Amino acid sequence: MYDIKSPHAEEFICHEEILETLRYADENKDNEELIDQILEKARPKKTEKGVHCEGLTHREASVLLACEIPEKVQKMYEIAEEIKLAFYGNRIVMFAPLYLSNYCVNGCLYCPYHLKNKHIARKKLTQDEVRNEVIALQDMGHKRLAIEAGEDPVKNPIEYILECIDTIYSVQHKNGAIRRVNVNIAATTVENYRKLKEAGIGTYILFQETYHKESYEKLHPTGPKHNYTYHTEAMDRAMEGGIDDVGLGVLFGLELYRYEFAGLLMHAEHLEAVHGVGPHTISVPRVKRADDIDPDVFDNGISDDMFIKIIACIRLAVPYTGMIISTRESEQVRERALRAGISQISGASRTSVGGYTEEERPHDTEQFDVSDQRTLDEVVHWLMDMGFIPSFCTACYREGRTGDRFMSLCKTGQIQNCCHPNALMTLCEFLMDYAAEDTKRIGFDLIERELEKIPTEKTREIARSNIEQIKASNRRDFRF
Ligand code: SAM
Repeated sequence: MYDIKSPHAEEFICHEEILETLRYADENKDNEELIDQILEKARPKKTEKGVHCEGLTHREASVLLACEIPEKVQKMYEIAEEIKLAFYGNRIVMFAPLYLSNYCVNGCLYCPYHLKNKHIARKKLTQDEVRNEVIALQDMGHKRLAIEAGEDPVKNPIEYILECIDTIYSVQHKNGAIRRVNVNIAATTVENYRKLKEAGIGTYILFQETYHKESYEKLHPTGPKHNYTYHTEAMDRAMEGGIDDVGLGVLFGLELYRYEFAGLLMHAEHLEAVHGVGPHTISVPRVKRADDIDPDVFDNGISDDMFIKIIACIRLAVPYTGMIISTRESEQVRERALRAGISQISGASRTSVGGYTEEERPHDTEQFDVSDQRTLDEVVHWLMDMGFIPSFCTACYREGRTGDRFMSLCKTGQIQNCCHPNALMTLCEFLMDYAAEDTKRIGFDLIERELEKIPTEKTREIARSNIEQIKASNRRDFRF
């Protein structure tokens, strides 16, 4: 039985409702009148307070995803870009993953860390090694990390994760600092989520992998992750434990993308209905080649075109949710994805345990093939060449702008008044401390142009003066 507010996974991700949604989408994919209505609903509207977007239900968004009429699909892309500009401007938030341990007791069929893989080297970072990885990441210019670990209650207990978070926040090398640690670890208890919250984490990220229960159970044949209900209800426990920024995602390629798409949006609707705040981010990973894993065995792979369309349709459905793409994708795909609605990307990622301090690639503990292997400086340069502002800002959660507080500021367009100047100030830090000469040159020009766009004179003047101080190397970590 479908009940969006139910605490039970099988009720808020109701299989019958997803099948009904797919039927409805098929029946209406050529219904131009309905499609026009849905597109109109998705379009940002000017209000007294700024710009407002209604978003779409999982059924409406599924109709758009099924629609193949070229002019309508083109409209979807145009509106996705409009929404992105309205709420995120031209800022792109930068981050890097940090792999702590690849010990894992699960049997996930798509992941090389699965227990039965005896030829992958197993490694768990010591605190000294964590420190060295963090120094290497700071030396590139990173300020925001997503920590990753396999699930192993003995080798990687919550105490280990908490100790690593402490170490990460404690390292300060030259002008470097990690100011936000997001956490991507296996589903856990309310008590452990509370401990993560107390440790000062940013977003708790957990990919659903697939919303299709039967497939989920086949893809996770052994280990604690086999439990679909426990995994699917994890975000509710995280919110109960006080974490109000949670990040959803599915691993595209495992199941039918249309099923996943509807499930993902139903999950977002559930969080909004029960906790009053939807997901902070949605990630869109696609399954990749890896040690002991051949992605071709999963017969639900999606084309690049469909992948970009999914991103645009998510953008239309949940306009206030950040969207993340990783270096699993190539430069070309990432460029298209940025225009379709992505607001956060990783750069210079290593998916191996200890990868940032090892010279040679590929590493023997790597989780999957990285397609975009450019340096962070190259990625920053590339973004600016396309007119984006790479942002190293981590101010929101440190200023208490999380959960529904963040969402309500975002919904009234207020977030622009802090995010835009914060992006420019943190980009300036990056340019001063880590960038190549050419990157610096185009970066400072960009900052000059973008400072002019800050609407309030007072904010503009403060931002300008802070940027002068950063340039004079006097201070770091200014924030609105
Ligand atoms: N162990 C944690 C869990 O079970 O949720 C999360 C950490 S895992 C390092 C992060 C994510 O990597 C997984 O949730 C999965 O979606 C993704 N992943 C695993 N194998 C992959 C592959 N072959 N290609 C792409 N992504 C993969």
